[in-house]
Amino acid sequence: MSDFEVIVVGAGLAGSVAAYELAKLGKEVLVVERGNFAGAKNMTGGRIYVHSLRKVFTDEELADAPFERKITHERISLMAPDANFTVDFSSNAMDNPDTASYSVLHATFDQWLAEKAEEAGAEMIYGIPVESLLKDENGKVCGVRAGEDEITADVVILADGANSLLAKEAVGYEKPPANQMAVGVKEVFELPAATITDRVLAGSDDEGAAWLFAGDATHGTFGGGFMYTNKESISLGVVAGIEACANGDAPVYQMLEDLKNHPAVAPLIKDAKVVEHSGHMVPEGGINIMPPLVADGVMLAGDSAMMCINLGYMVRGMDYAVAAGQLAGRNAAVALEVGDTSAAVLQCYVEDLANSFVMKDLCEYYAEPAFLEGFTRMFRGYPEMIRDILNDMFIVDGRPAKRLLNMTWPKIRTIGIFNILKDVRGALSAL
Ligand SMILES: Cc1cc2nc3c(=O)[nH]c(=O)nc-3n(C[C@H](O)[C@H](O)[C@H](O)COP(=O)(O)OP(=O)(O)OC[C@H]3O[C@@H](n4cnc5c(N)ncnc54)[C@H](O)[C@@H]3O)c2cc1C
Repeated sequence: MSDFEVIVVGAGLAGSVAAYELAKLGKEVLVVERGNFAGAKNMTGGRIYVHSLRKVFTDEELADAPFERKITHERISLMAPDANFTVDFSSNAMDNPDTASYSVLHATFDQWLAEKAEEAGAEMIYGIPVESLLKDENGKVCGVRAGEDEITADVVILADGANSLLAKEAVGYEKPPANQMAVGVKEVFELPAATITDRVLAGSDDEGAAWLFAGDATHGTFGGGFMYTNKESISLGVVAGIEACANGDAPVYQMLEDLKNHPAVAPLIKDAKVVEHSGHMVPEGGINIMPPLVADGVMLAGDSAMMCINLGYMVRGMDYAVAAGQLAGRNAAVALEVGDTSAAVLQCYVEDLANSFVMKDLCEYYAEPAFLEGFTRMFRGYPEMIRDILNDMFIVDGRPAKRLLNMTWPKIRTIGIFNILKDVRGALSAL
């Protein structure tokens, strides 16, 4: 007889949702989290799309969720060292409960999710990392080793994030190549709510912006900057491809320093107090670097299974982690009911995922990481071209004016019309 029916490693979104589902189905579940509380050791941008949470929790439960601000402005900037071109999009669809998204802070949001799991009956242990997995004589995972303890379970769910130390032991997964992973650094800047609202031109203190910066934010290398408005703080950071960063001209923390001082960003965080620094890996390779999702006695969900996409204009991992956690919990319960937690039965989780938006999205965007990595002109080239064209359009110095075509054509030729057409074609086929 095992100590628990299920052990979940990690109290991030995937882990707490899996534990919540299992506890609600009456299963004995233990969550082991290395941080001193849920959200202490992980990191996000971040904005969560609520659709997958709405399949787990009722509207009444979600009314208590510590969302920061509803995102009502999507901004994308092409950033040159001395200029910034921004598109601002807002739409009534952002207000619809099914399609809304909110900024969140892991420290508060993950604690709320963990409390939900605990209230449903899950047991939580904090401050202890799982160091390795227990296996029986047939190689089936049958528990975890955490500190001095060996704790047994019929199923172990790995929800231990992008840098899983256990995935190799569980499913034989080798670390992905550096060009498929990115590193993110972030600082959180405290400011009065009304100041934030004014600075991003939001309609109220409950509304805010999600803002991505391509180009100079990563010194022209593959990656981008991000900014999300919270209730009384601004999350500002940079995500840069690990390989691109290693070959670039500056480390990622220097990119963030420079982004903070960029003329388009500095006024947003003026006089703010830095209250948090963090760094984390982002599994940008998505489906291309996905490990096997089950083996005998073990399942992987969320970032530990590389369920994340970065499309340049949008980063998503949290709604995938929630959905995968829910499906992992439900299917672990089914396996327990039939008394067989072998890979053959846990395969039902893989099938459910394949039919869900998680795998459909990841498959749809399989070509996008390679495209973005090779799209070097997006990060150095187009931002400067746009700056030069707009400088010509908007800067008036009293010299004889030129027609628009005569102004723009020489700038377009700096990149070349064939290169532009090639990039458009590549973008259309990958994105
Ligand atoms: C800079 C950055 C920006 C991002 N922006 C966005 C965004 O705006 N929107 C979005 O949807 N997604 C975003 N993402 C991705 C998103 O944050 C992740 O996809 C999501 O948090 C994954 O959730 P998870 O539960 O799988 O893993 P995590 O949230 O990483 O949770 C894993 C948990 O496991 C614990 N753990 C790890 N190892 C062990 C161990 N051995 N023993 C015990 N516990 C362990 C960790 O402490 C952690 O609590 C961003 C990511 C980064 C890094």
